[in-house]
Amino acid sequence: MSTYPTAEASVPTRFEYDEQARALVVSWRDGGSSKIPFQELRRGCPCAGCKGELGTPGRFDLDPELHPGEDELADIALVGNYGLKVVWGDGHDTGIYRFELLRGLGQPAPR
Ligand SMILES: [Zn+2]
Repeated sequence: MSTYPTAEASVPTRFEYDEQARALVVSWRDGGSSKIPFQELRRGCPCAGCKGELGTPGRFDLDPELHPGEDELADIALVGNYGLKVVWGDGHDTGIYRFELLRGLGQPAPR
């Protein structure tokens, strides 16, 4: 057994929406799963506009509040074999969440 995190831990096998909890539930190949609230997912958007770059403040540095539509998950799409593109209700769609990043968000979900 290797003590290193295996690639299995960041390979998603299934994406589901938990509409009631307003969360994205990701099942992982290593058998684990993550429940990621839309709000946390939105705030974790890794795009340059949200994260900021080269001294430019990010979206939530300027205004920490979520605005209507910003945490409404409209659509998701796989990007290659490494990431997930998320489209938000306000039209924001430039964030590509690498699977390793997704695995670090939310809470482990009971199976
Ligand atoms: Zn973004």
